[in-house]
Amino acid sequence: MTNTVIVGLQWGDEGKGKIVDYLSVNYDAVVRFQGGSNAGHTVRVGGLKYVFHLLPSGLLRGKKLFIGPGVVVDPAILNEELEKAKMFRQDVDLKVDYRCTVVSPIDRWLDAHLERLRGAAAIGTTKRGIGPAYAGRMLRIAPTVADILEGGRELFELTEKLFGHSASELEGWLASAKETLAPVAGDVGLELQRIVEMGGSILFEGAQGALLDILYGTYPHVTSCHTLAPYAALGAGVPPDIIDEVIGVMKAYQTRVGGGPFPTEITGEMGNVLRTKGEEYGATTGRPRRVGWLDLVAVRHAVRLNGVKKMALTKVDVLGGLKELKVAVAYDIDGQEVKHLPANPHRLTRAKPIYIDLDPIPRMGKEGWARIAKMGWDALPQSVKKFAEFLEQELKAE
Ligand code: IMP
Ligand code: MG
Repeated sequence: MTNTVIVGLQWGDEGKGKIVDYLSVNYDAVVRFQGGSNAGHTVRVGGLKYVFHLLPSGLLRGKKLFIGPGVVVDPAILNEELEKAKMFRQDVDLKVDYRCTVVSPIDRWLDAHLERLRGAAAIGTTKRGIGPAYAGRMLRIAPTVADILEGGRELFELTEKLFGHSASELEGWLASAKETLAPVAGDVGLELQRIVEMGGSILFEGAQGALLDILYGTYPHVTSCHTLAPYAALGAGVPPDIIDEVIGVMKAYQTRVGGGPFPTEITGEMGNVLRTKGEEYGATTGRPRRVGWLDLVAVRHAVRLNGVKKMALTKVDVLGGLKELKVAVAYDIDGQEVKHLPANPHRLTRAKPIYIDLDPIPRMGKEGWARIAKMGWDALPQSVKKFAEFLEQELKAE
């Protein structure tokens, strides 16, 4: 009966989808509580690869799926994914909260337009309209699911005045949005509460990662919402005390899509090797991800703010065969040794990582790793065990 939050401890793409899929067997419901279709959760089943942006990853296990009010919902993408889901599951059980902010084509246009205006200072957003949708909510001009179901083109009169996009252009879009949202709209928080009261358990599926949090990430190179575990309750519509544990997912190295500071970035040939081995290309945009050594200054920040006591470490196999294994344990900023992520992000651009060298991880091949996965901890090479134990010690979580 444990209710668990799963969050990313880096810049997203830690492999949360995989962990959610694996753990979801033990839960009754999986709920998304923030973000939108900027996320890309990759899950492999029976040799096939599925990427979902909006639907929770519990989909493949036939769990009850929820999209909480903290999520911004693009009905066109939701429709596409529901269609795709039907290919392997007829009985998708989904509720989307009436309070969710709806992403419209105007948000997508504005996202791309702002990026163009930023020029060289572009954030490198996914252009899915996420920022404008959340901003629209704050400005109280964005429609919610409830508004879409009840209303017509008057919903876009203000946007028409602001941006000159004729609201009539949206009529076709509005009709399909209604069709998609009507059968799934509901009160997510209340339904989750009922599941808990009946003795069921809930998995809260985080998207993106701690360093992309709107307040605590590397602003302005962040996404437009909270990505931290304390937001799970609010974004799903349940009281915070129903949450029992927070699991942080951390990749064995660091990656980032889009712009912004990245102290441990590896460029050149070595970077290419890591990118190729790790298949580090954006699940949503296909962009090559920037890669680098694991950054414990950044992860420590994520562990602290999320209240993480348990961690999942992913993609250690990708480091197998590299001649070295480096982990940043501190930064040198203007000659000072710093162990915590600077609250002033401008200082981060001057941070030089202080590394320690760990024993390199041997090359094992796919079969070798698959064998280890079956046999468990004891079968791991000594270097991997030492790596994991080092991380537990440094991060005070296990
Ligand atoms: P936005 O969320 O599309 O506005 O993008 C803002 C920043 O967050 C960009 O650097 C994106 O690459 C990054 N981002 C957003 N969603 C994800 C994700 O799911 N994984 C990794 N990076 C993401
Ligand atoms: Mg992703």
